[in-house]
Amino acid sequence: MNAEIIAIGSELLTPFRQDTNSLYLTEKLNDLGVEVVFKTIVGDSRTNLTQAATLAVSRADIVIFMGGLGPTEDDLTRESVADALGLELRRDPEIVAALERRFAERGWKMAANNNKQGDVIAGATVLPNANGTAPGQWISGKFEGKEKIVILLPGPPHELKALFDEQCMSRLQAKLPPQFIASRVLRIALMGESQCDARVAPIYKRYADVDTTILAAAGEIQLHLKTRAGSLAQAQERVDALVQEIEDELDDFVVSDNGDSLEQIVSYYLQMRNVTLAVAESCTGGLLAERLTSVSGSSRYFLGGAVVYSNELKTAFADVPAELIQQHGAVSREVAAALAEGIRKRCGASLGAGVTGVAGPTGGSPEKPVGLVFHALASGSGTEVIERKFPGDRKRIRWFASTQALDMIRRKLM
Ligand code: AMP
Ligand code: MG
Repeated sequence: MNAEIIAIGSELLTPFRQDTNSLYLTEKLNDLGVEVVFKTIVGDSRTNLTQAATLAVSRADIVIFMGGLGPTEDDLTRESVADALGLELRRDPEIVAALERRFAERGWKMAANNNKQGDVIAGATVLPNANGTAPGQWISGKFEGKEKIVILLPGPPHELKALFDEQCMSRLQAKLPPQFIASRVLRIALMGESQCDARVAPIYKRYADVDTTILAAAGEIQLHLKTRAGSLAQAQERVDALVQEIEDELDDFVVSDNGDSLEQIVSYYLQMRNVTLAVAESCTGGLLAERLTSVSGSSRYFLGGAVVYSNELKTAFADVPAELIQQHGAVSREVAAALAEGIRKRCGASLGAGVTGVAGPTGGSPEKPVGLVFHALASGSGTEVIERKFPGDRKRIRWFASTQALDMIRRKLM
């Protein structure tokens, strides 16, 4: 079975609000083995909504509407869907009575507007909404000769989620053939998307039964692998086999094969090796420390460090010799190494990390262009430095730089 999701609300067609509900529903539907084939966003217009509903019911097996179930003039989902299905709306006195009680409990008098929230499409099952006034509706039956499921859900995300999880999942499951799904997420650091795809596509193309989705962000690629089979063991075996082949190909570029983030993996290695860490950051301005401490329990290995933006503080807090900065410039291989070594000593850590670079958009020069970053990692056995030239704007460059620093730590401890 496939599905279409329709998000309703004129605010969702402005630059100020996103349709996030459909992401939630898509994940849940995929878990049931239902593919979402269309997503539509419609403003609060009865004509447009009826048109969208008519089209959706003609082309998808399951159609889920969300939003537009409120009490106001612009809440038009009930009447539009009824029109599209050629069914009548009937006011359900029990819903109206329940609404009146809900208002009375809060010491309010219900406005006449709210009555229309009691309108139910003929033949629909009412889905009570514990978190709001608008109940959902479930309609299943033959339309134009084909079995369809039509669901109306309230727009507020916390209402929609509770209602869908508690009342729609099991109803849908009962209508669908049993499915066993296995999935894994591989996370890959600091590899270009096309470079990664060129290496893994020949592998995943041989696994036609496994869905492979590539999600790329600055400095990271996620490979989402998912399959369905007649048994869970069978599904798991297929996904695991594909993961193994991809890991053999990408080798140490693979950060994790169970969805763990780079921060979590670094945390895991630091604890496993019983190693402590301190950082001295210039261009990342604390982002590296922020990412390290985003993991719960990081106090066990992360001692702290310094944000040393000015040359003076590089010397005062990380013991970088002033002459070294004068000789090579603050953005240099030598200063990165001195930052790492200085902060390691100062803090008494097993590892010291240093980052210095040009985050831009100003401050670049022909010799030291925007995006040039030096990363250093100092340990008892010496200091290594990596020079990179990152693309993008200030935010991206800083993110890349912190990712590179984390990845150096990961590779050192692997
Ligand atoms: P409604 O049910 O249309 O009255 O929507 C109530 C609230 O839910 C509004 O604040 C909407 O912005 C929010 N909302 C409606 N649809 C969505 C959606 N698809 N994703 C996220 N929020 C939504
Ligand atoms: Mg609305």
